Amino acid sequence: MRGLATALASRQSPDFEAWETLMLQAARQGGAGVLGSLLTHWQAHDPRPVIRCQCGQRMTSRGRRAKGLLTTLGSVPFARSFYQCDQCHQSRFPDDERLDIVNTTYSPGVRRLMARAGSQTQFEQAAEDLLCYGGLRIEPREIERVAEEVGRQVEQWLSEEQAHLVQHGIHAPPKLQTGTKFYVSFDGTGVPVRKNELVGRPGKQADGSARTREVKLGCVFTQVGLDREGRPQRDPDSTTYVGAIESSTLFGWRMYAEALRRGLEQAQTVIVLTDGQRYNHTIAQTHFPDAVHIVDLFHAFEHLTLIARIFWGPQAESPPAWRDLLEDGNIGRLIHQAGKRLPSSAKRRKALRQELGYFENNASHMHYAEYRKKKFFIGSGVVEAGCRTVIGERLKQSGMRWSVRGANAIIALRCCIMSGRFEDFWASRAP
Ligand SMILES: [Zn+2]
Repeated sequence: MRGLATALASRQSPDFEAWETLMLQAARQGGAGVLGSLLTHWQAHDPRPVIRCQCGQRMTSRGRRAKGLLTTLGSVPFARSFYQCDQCHQSRFPDDERLDIVNTTYSPGVRRLMARAGSQTQFEQAAEDLLCYGGLRIEPREIERVAEEVGRQVEQWLSEEQAHLVQHGIHAPPKLQTGTKFYVSFDGTGVPVRKNELVGRPGKQADGSARTREVKLGCVFTQVGLDREGRPQRDPDSTTYVGAIESSTLFGWRMYAEALRRGLEQAQTVIVLTDGQRYNHTIAQTHFPDAVHIVDLFHAFEHLTLIARIFWGPQAESPPAWRDLLEDGNIGRLIHQAGKRLPSSAKRRKALRQELGYFENNASHMHYAEYRKKKFFIGSGVVEAGCRTVIGERLKQSGMRWSVRGANAIIALRCCIMSGRFEDFWASRAP
């Protein structure tokens, strides 16, 4: 090694980056060699239990079968022991099972990198990133396949956790600071999907067809303090996410389980923040009956603008008097004011009735003056930002067309990573 260093350094001008690259390659090659020896040593010294088949029969050792293994240090040859059942001829690779490399040639470390990279950017870009940062040459299609596979494992892990939480409650509930306000907020956003995922679904396109499927995204966060202006301030790093393309019923349970995990039952003040769609009420009533359900103020403002435009045309803004009534939470009076004159055309009358209906249905979730006094958040900005960062930035890039299965796998991965739970997931896989 010293000879190499002398040779490199004696060149006329130093090339630091070339030195670094060479040393990193040498370190990887050396490490891969040691890792290979470690595997061999482990195989030779690990006590071999009796290997049984699914049928209960004791399986017979049939020597070793080699497979190439790509690790974070590069390729490592590996010959794992192979067992077969004399009765039903099923086979098993117990070494692969112990090392979490069943049916894969990628080590757990490499799969973790593939999943993370593939969840962050498009798969072509992810392949370039892995080559650049990790010296790993992997096809984009492979990254797609493995990232989605890991995403489905994450989803499996979450659904087992959900079932346990719902049945048995939380084992060690998180400690919430006194005065914590506990927020549960959810919203939907469209993700472009392949044509065959849309069969029979009405959509928003002019011809009545759909191009997207709705991802439901939910988040839980807490709030104790106020900012300098006395407005509520979200606790840093307190936001966790769940989401999927699924029915509102299934999503309700997903949201509920996440809230349980975060300390729903320990929280004294629970607030559900939504934009007031019908299914929002169902989820709030089913899973969070004791919560204060607040309908986002800014969506309500938009509906006021819509009413103004029914009366006064497409450029109109809502009168300040209406906005004051809304901010005061005086919805009865607002409905009375906005609905006291009816437009002349039947079409506009119908539109007006629909908009007034929105305020009637949500009136009991619009006590904004009271919420302000109690220092509650009254906007659903956190989950809307989540729709952009967790979903939009990865799944709504131009030209993308997802399968529901693929999209849900990547959504599960991103929610897990952005909730700071990816380490927990990998730890749960350790034998
Ligand atoms: Zn058998």
